[in-house]
Amino acid sequence: MNRFDYVRPASVPEAVAAAARRGSVYLAAGTNLLDVMKGGAARPERVIDITRLPGLDRIEWLPDGGVRIGALVRNSDLAYDQRFAQVFPAVAEALLSGASAQLRNAATVGGNLMQRTRCAYFHDLASACNRRAPGSGCDARAGENRLHAVLGWSEQCIATHPSDFCVPLVALDAVVEIEGPHGTREIPIDTLHVLPGATPERETALAPGELIVAVRLPAEAATFSRHARYLKLRERTSYAFAVVAAAAGLQIESGAIRSARIALGGVAAKPWRAREAEVALEGERPTAKAFARAAELALAQARPSGDNAFKIELARRIVVRALSLALQGTPEVMPALPASPFSTIPGANHVA
Ligand code: SF4
Repeated sequence: MNRFDYVRPASVPEAVAAAARRGSVYLAAGTNLLDVMKGGAARPERVIDITRLPGLDRIEWLPDGGVRIGALVRNSDLAYDQRFAQVFPAVAEALLSGASAQLRNAATVGGNLMQRTRCAYFHDLASACNRRAPGSGCDARAGENRLHAVLGWSEQCIATHPSDFCVPLVALDAVVEIEGPHGTREIPIDTLHVLPGATPERETALAPGELIVAVRLPAEAATFSRHARYLKLRERTSYAFAVVAAAAGLQIESGAIRSARIALGGVAAKPWRAREAEVALEGERPTAKAFARAAELALAQARPSGDNAFKIELARRIVVRALSLALQGTPEVMPALPASPFSTIPGANHVA
């Protein structure tokens, strides 16, 4: 690990001022950043420890029924907040699908949004990686790439975004609150992570020095609570990133779909919102045929980036399955690790 300056600001304005210097990064729980620093894939000159900033560790219910989640709220605290899990069950289910219990106890909401790709070549300093070293190439293109992107990738980078949490947040139109050198702004979470194009080193829409201070879920997101699921397929039952994942939410009225939300994980450099599929479901009866059509539309632009054509069909199937399970209704006792609907192992249940 390289030498770096360590700064512990007492307020958000102090943190933002400290980050004005080039080569600065924000440190929260460090569950991802410290790994990346130890491996050498990130070499910040200045680490700004935001863990003691006041006011960022609260879950605040808004008068209209939405919720504002501080960036330093721990993943476990949010997932096990009874009211939150009841109102936003797919988000709680996604949180409990991620990492391990120990990591979820430490990892923060803001840190989850900012985690780096798990592409092995990004972390291996002997490999060419345009994301880590712009212009060096992409060894994943001709390498071990069965888990890489099938949507939105470019010749320069085929990495995926690893977050579970972000997938239902994108489906539910969450908003990211940001403080920066030029003041406060907010953006839809769907625009936070960016596709690689010719500049894969640019992973988010954040400008230098900008700090995520909160994530908001709008009241509208709560209207999907009765029919919402997050499903994750992975190579082992726990402590693994998604091969493919899907968040689905339905509003059912008089036997027809009033509104649908679908987002995919593990398929692109950002959580992938399937808007055409959502529109196609509106007004339809919730049949297997309608769900299959939605899955076709969700993956219509997909193409393999390597040995991963199987992910396209897998993603179609997980969309159908997530919609089918959402239709059945959000379970009172939600399957969570290791009680995945794909697992035969009974395990820790999460009472939503
Ligand atoms: Fe780097 Fe992206 Fe290629 Fe992986 S896929 S080696 S992160 S450029």
